[in-house]
Amino acid sequence: MSSELMAVYNRAPVEVERGEGVWLHARDGRVFLDCVAGIATNSLGHAHPALVAALTEQAHKLWHVSNIFRIPGQEELAHRLVENSFADVVFFGNSGSEAVECALKTARKYHAANGQPERIDIFGFASSFHGRTYAAVSASGNPAYLDGFGPRLPGYHQLVIDDAAAIEEAIRQPTAAAVIVEPVQGEGGARALDEAWLRRVRDLCSETGTLLIYDEVQCGMGRTGKLFAHQWFDGVEPDIMAVAKALGGGFPVGACLSTAAAAKGMVVGTHGSTFGGNPLAMAVGKAAFDLIASAATLDNVRTIAARLHDGLRSLAAHYPDIAVDVRGKGLLIGVKLIPNNREMMATARDHGLLVAGGGDNCVRLLPSLLMTGAEADEALKRLEQAFAATRAAVAEAA
Ligand SMILES: *Cc1c(COP(=O)(O)O)cnc(C)c1O
Repeated sequence: MSSELMAVYNRAPVEVERGEGVWLHARDGRVFLDCVAGIATNSLGHAHPALVAALTEQAHKLWHVSNIFRIPGQEELAHRLVENSFADVVFFGNSGSEAVECALKTARKYHAANGQPERIDIFGFASSFHGRTYAAVSASGNPAYLDGFGPRLPGYHQLVIDDAAAIEEAIRQPTAAAVIVEPVQGEGGARALDEAWLRRVRDLCSETGTLLIYDEVQCGMGRTGKLFAHQWFDGVEPDIMAVAKALGGGFPVGACLSTAAAAKGMVVGTHGSTFGGNPLAMAVGKAAFDLIASAATLDNVRTIAARLHDGLRSLAAHYPDIAVDVRGKGLLIGVKLIPNNREMMATARDHGLLVAGGGDNCVRLLPSLLMTGAEADEALKRLEQAFAATRAAVAEAA
């Protein structure tokens, strides 16, 4: 393994070489059924022909020009996002963290532009994940990600999802700027918030002028079977939303969506990005959007999700010594384990299945939104083999 890379990742011993749909090929010839999908990013599978065509066609025309020029692809992708969401305006960056940064800056700037610059407090939640930049780790509910990096940025506070009284008190503070929440927590362990919770926070925010930011970097773009996860519920829309991961189907791109009202302070000169919204990202993003937003894809997500959730529940029932909960929404699935989740990821890999880790000792299944029923059944079969091998290993050790 290379020692010339900064040692921030615990990398699986697989040298990935190429992918096709849900299948990932390693250099040594092994073939894996990929239920990681680049952490919910390659949402149309690997090497989707429409995305390959969009990228290569654009590669022959223009890669980068800077945002001091009009980039038609940006206007076209922004239009698709706006037409299909609460939003009026969009800012493009290159990652989820940048989308979150823009969302947080937009919220504070809104209050400043409204003559309330004292409203700077940002409320995040335990077990949330918003990315790795300073603002994103300050908003995130994982103290380990801040450890050794100095203090949390001023004005960032943490709440607990189940503490309704503290949430209400926070939102009513005269210095409250925004609440940031994932409608379905991803890294934290695939926890889906319910309609009543979201509606209560929405209502409190509307009453007090505190802005509501959704982080749909992981749960958005079709992952739950709706284009955006909060669209399962009527009238619980955010003021600002961060999107990334699946937005480019594997090509780096992120977006911050906002209502015109909430983006009031984001005028010329207040924010920017050199690479954000570059022509390559926009070409792939448009192609990915059209496929993900199609009724056929979203229907497939719901069908395959039901099949996987059913299969996983029945697997958990047969292996109560291994799996204790199946949770999440759509194809953002968490299986809470008794044995260590990292070890289960390795055992699953030995059986040809790639799954992601997650908080609360979960493994996550985040497969392509185009997964077929046969592929879903194969994933269940391989996971069962991993469960059986784990059970046998535990028995042998006892
Ligand atoms: C992955 C993720 C991010 C960060 O995205 P990056 O592209 O890694 O910067 C932010 N929020 C959520 C919910 C995520 O899952």
